[in-house]
Amino acid sequence: MSRTKIYEGKAKIIYATEDSEIVIADFKDDATAFNALKRGTIDGKGKINCQISQVLFQYLEQCGIATHLIDCPSLNQMRVKKVKILPLEVVVRNIAAGSLCQQTGLPLGTVLAQPLVEFYYKNDALGDPLLTHDRLLLLKLATSEQIDQLQELAKKCDRALCEFFSNCNLTLVDFKLEFGTDSNGQLLLADEISPDTCRLWDNLESDPQNRVMDKDRFRQDLGKVENAYEQVLERVLAQSNFRSK
Ligand code: UDP
Repeated sequence: MSRTKIYEGKAKIIYATEDSEIVIADFKDDATAFNALKRGTIDGKGKINCQISQVLFQYLEQCGIATHLIDCPSLNQMRVKKVKILPLEVVVRNIAAGSLCQQTGLPLGTVLAQPLVEFYYKNDALGDPLLTHDRLLLLKLATSEQIDQLQELAKKCDRALCEFFSNCNLTLVDFKLEFGTDSNGQLLLADEISPDTCRLWDNLESDPQNRVMDKDRFRQDLGKVENAYEQVLERVLAQSNFRSK
């Protein structure tokens, strides 16, 4: 069926459907990093990330978090409720890595006493800068009430996801969430949750390179990128099957 393309991003294409409240997200194998300065392909990534996201959204729904997921008509396509995406990346960190280490000097792997919730401006031209509470209000990117709501939702997702991944023998180091509002103004968790958007360390590996199971393998040219993504999918599906028994 030929569909109208509404939007094409770095990792997904969004298509319209006959229902104006529903769109289809088509997950691509394309991979980018460092604000798209590094580009490549991770074979099978679209199907893997779509399936992982589906399991995690379904799980989070069971935990009481509203998401945009409807269902998946194929392995790399997700039918979702159409939302207006807030131009924010909500990042939750449990262990210091990535930009937190670069910007604060905290050593990689420092366990944070409590989860850190941060907001970044989704704006490639500005390099996705870190925002403060007052800058969020200044730029009218979210209302004060929405900021509180997002903080709480992000922490709730973190608690649920840490437990889920721990049962997969994976440590959730940090991750990025995106939210949108539906036609009723309700805040829904959107986008994806996958090895593209999470740092996941394998609890069965102590070597600091071998334990990396996420997009850092692509960012840092660590090799075996596809293997790591497949392994995450395998464990997530096994945990999902175990939970549904
Ligand atoms: N992240 C993401 N998209 C972005 C920026 C970050 O999914 O545009 C995720 C990233 O994979 C990691 C977390 O958010 O799990 C924190 O990323 P960080 O700020 O450390 O930036 P990075 O080191 O990835 O540039």
